[in-house]
Amino acid sequence: MLEYKLYINGEFRDASNKGTIVAVNPFDRSVFAKLAVASVEDTASAIKAARNAFDSGVWSHMPKEERSAIIKQIADKIKENSALLQELEIKESGSTYKKSKDDMYLTYRAASTFAKLALSDFDEELDISKEGVSRNLLVREPVGVVSAIIPWNFPLQMAIWKIAPALAAGCTMVLKPAPETSVSALELAKIIDSTDLPKGVVNIITGDAEVGEEMITNPMVDKVAFTGSTEIGRKVMCLASATMKKITLELGGKSASIILDDADLDLAIDGSAYACYFHNGQCCVAGSRLILPNKIHDEVVERLKNKLGKMKIGDPMDKETDIGPLVSNKHQKRVLEYIEIGKKERARLVCGGGVPKGFERGCYVEPTLFADVTNDMRIAREEIFGPVLSVIKAKDDEDAIRIANESSFGLAGGVWSKDNDRALALAKRLRAGTVWINEWHLLSDKAPFGGYKQSGVGRELGIEGLKAYTELKHIHIDEVLDRKKKFWYDVTVPQD
Ligand code: NAD
Repeated sequence: MLEYKLYINGEFRDASNKGTIVAVNPFDRSVFAKLAVASVEDTASAIKAARNAFDSGVWSHMPKEERSAIIKQIADKIKENSALLQELEIKESGSTYKKSKDDMYLTYRAASTFAKLALSDFDEELDISKEGVSRNLLVREPVGVVSAIIPWNFPLQMAIWKIAPALAAGCTMVLKPAPETSVSALELAKIIDSTDLPKGVVNIITGDAEVGEEMITNPMVDKVAFTGSTEIGRKVMCLASATMKKITLELGGKSASIILDDADLDLAIDGSAYACYFHNGQCCVAGSRLILPNKIHDEVVERLKNKLGKMKIGDPMDKETDIGPLVSNKHQKRVLEYIEIGKKERARLVCGGGVPKGFERGCYVEPTLFADVTNDMRIAREEIFGPVLSVIKAKDDEDAIRIANESSFGLAGGVWSKDNDRALALAKRLRAGTVWINEWHLLSDKAPFGGYKQSGVGRELGIEGLKAYTELKHIHIDEVLDRKKKFWYDVTVPQD
């Protein structure tokens, strides 16, 4: 049995109250690790460590070239240890071998990108400066101590999407992974501990709502960076308001994939299946609504059904597996409940809908396809976060856009067409933060990512994502040094 401790102020510690949780492999529900779980006191001491590290200037005032080199050291060590990290991620989350292999590379790539972005120079002089009169400088400074709270679907990538930009900006932080996937985060703590990062700059603790709430409300924290469901995101926003913390929220989605009548159907059908069923639909950007014009509707539904029948359900450790287990028993139940809701709402169950034969021991759900869905049904409106696709008919392009935008979410979307101009015209009208044309799931560390509407606040990744960990300061330097001309009781503001 693997054992893990909390990582606070550069030390691995048991919880102050000796609390522990276990890690369960969703493939066979076996327990494979025991982890310390933080108390509120442990959480406060992790925050204090991050506060002290920030205020000491050991990281925030370190020359950015040196900071960049340490972030690159973290990236390289992730790469070196990727086989172990991958194995742990598969065991704790049920991610397939193929998906987790990509996760390791993308985690390394994001850390390397932010090692480079750490060298960015944002400081500038405003054109209101006048030689001999005044200088006006605009400088960006680290926002301070960051509380980062993440979900279980891409455990290491989500961790690095928070750690790397926060470090690149000069912040210190406390990171809390989801309880389901804390093993890989604490293994990452060991990697971080083996680098030259000063003690207390990154602290990694485990726990759930109680720990998360302390991380949001503690007055020593300056910013909360949260990724998770819209429901919890709403709570985070409320809790953060008491101390007016800066926040970024990356939340849920119900993204629409629109196939136009001129699309390359081979590509669009494969792509729409990938959009929804990749990682069992446990992706915030999953294309979980498929909008089809009448003309191609029946053909696409039939071909999708055939495609799902050929997907390989199996052991996530197996390199050939397409569909592994969901993350947990609790989540499996939730997805199966949504399938029942779909049936009660009188959507047509085309295929799937149950637990696949031979996989009853694990947390599996068959890839499930519903047709004759209308946009007012719960399976079209709510995020299921499982392998369930809802097909909705549209009369024409205008109707497709109306249906796609008629959602409280706005994280992603996509259009499939051979005519780029036609697709682009629709892409521009989709109310979503990321829109693909003839593609899905492809993100760049250099392009901002985030949601419209209830899918979030702010952006991660790219320069925008780095700026989200900074404060902007205007410094005015007066060069006249003439007391009489300067102050309001002697003169009025000079007029242009
Ligand atoms: P969740 O909202 O249940 O939990 C997310 C995190 O919040 C976990 O670490 C959890 O322990 C913590 N938490 C729970 N209650 C809290 C509270 N009261 N205060 C503070 N923290 C609390 O989400 P999940 O089930 O772990 O992940 C799935 C969700 O994450 C989906 O809705 C998905 O769309 C979303 N997600 C969004 C993005 C994005 O970038 N937009 C990326 C990945 C996942």
